[in-house]
Amino acid sequence: MPAQRTKHPTAVRSAIYLRVSLDQTGEGLAVERQREDCERIVRERGWTITETYVDNSVSAFSKTTARPAYERMTADYLSGRFDALVCWDLDRLTRQPRQLEDWIDYAEERGLRLVTANGEADLGTDGGRMYARIKAAVARAEGERKGARQSRAQQQRAAMGRPPRGIRATGYTLDGEVIAEEAEAVRAVYAAFTSGSSLKAIASALSGVEPVLRTVGGVPMQQQDVPKSVPVLPTRSGRPWNATSVHSLLRNPRYAGWSMLSGKIVRDGSGEPVRGQWEPLVDDALWLEVQRRLDDPTRKSNRVGTERKHLGSGLFVCDVCDERVRSHNTRYRCAGHVMRARDQIDGLVLRMVHGRLSKQDFPEHLPGQADGRVEELRQHEQKHRDRIARARADYEDELIEADLYRGIRDRAEAAIAALQSERLALTAGSVAVVVLGAESPAEAFESAGLAVQRAVIDALAQVRLMPAPRGRKALDPETVIFNWRA
Ligand SMILES: [Zn+2]
Repeated sequence: MPAQRTKHPTAVRSAIYLRVSLDQTGEGLAVERQREDCERIVRERGWTITETYVDNSVSAFSKTTARPAYERMTADYLSGRFDALVCWDLDRLTRQPRQLEDWIDYAEERGLRLVTANGEADLGTDGGRMYARIKAAVARAEGERKGARQSRAQQQRAAMGRPPRGIRATGYTLDGEVIAEEAEAVRAVYAAFTSGSSLKAIASALSGVEPVLRTVGGVPMQQQDVPKSVPVLPTRSGRPWNATSVHSLLRNPRYAGWSMLSGKIVRDGSGEPVRGQWEPLVDDALWLEVQRRLDDPTRKSNRVGTERKHLGSGLFVCDVCDERVRSHNTRYRCAGHVMRARDQIDGLVLRMVHGRLSKQDFPEHLPGQADGRVEELRQHEQKHRDRIARARADYEDELIEADLYRGIRDRAEAAIAALQSERLALTAGSVAVVVLGAESPAEAFESAGLAVQRAVIDALAQVRLMPAPRGRKALDPETVIFNWRA
């Protein structure tokens, strides 16, 4: 006759296993919550607890990670110290199918009672054991999949637009507050990249590299581009900036005020990007433009922006064939018509442009004046977004057909794109604005980096080179044509 377990103290001796994984921020139930749930199971079944085993901050997946409490528990079970094991879920016990198989065997052959507090498995039953085996296979596939498992808590934070926990982006505190000095540097990096500076050049400026200057035609010109507008900003690691770190800064959607997870913009149920609850550092249109340029493998769209070491390569034009000249040794040349001394040409161009800048005002380029228009454009964009949202709601409520919805959406999206590009042109699209909008454009031109000088020249004039008259060493200014733009 079997003993009446529930009434007599011949109760099942159980062990509780708890694991906290700190590597998956917030995913884990706090250990106390796990403990409560497991202890409740033990109470409900009228079992006793022999010991509670706790492993901290270790993954159940890795075979190499030591889990001292787990190992001790296994040994204790094999030496007969308990007959039942309670854990919160099987993931917490082990994600290694091999180990899980062992526990299933113990359940089948030695009568171990293995129960999870979340109710998914009771290895004392056939169904529970089958479930555990499937679970083990799934766990293996999941664990082997590349990429981090996103914790639910992180996903929720991102969906609510809260700053990611534990990751401090340059420009913000951990709580998402703006750090003024760093924010200034971040804005300068975006501006410099839009102005055509290369990632490497921006990294040099951030790291405090001093540009080597050469005076050509009385105007200083940088040997290599080091954008002066970008301040020196020590990295947190103490290592110098490099192209990769500048690249990830330019790729970070947080700066446009968009919520992100694993470097991707988080979207809400209707596909709209979720706004972060922090102050953006750059305009979203500018951020999108930067992404477009980074995505462009040739960066051709940014003609003056491709990294150049010389003032006129790819910028000045051969007057005979209309092709852009290239730099070759100390000269500019095209496919066969012009071959001009580079320093002579650069000197003349710098002098002419400098002269033009000292004489002329460029009030229409002053930044800030367009603020009203920028706001107006932003509001128009919002109207179109609202239109899409309304159409989507109508479609979901079966008030309109899919075709109609798509038509409305496509038109609105086209309108948004047009508005964004105008907004971009006003906010940062004008590369030359750094110089042209300065109080003294001529002085700003002198101290600008090579990329900006090129952009200013491009904004003001087309420079055409005629073939040099034979046998002449001195520069004949008549052989360089300046087509000033209106
Ligand atoms: Zn030519």
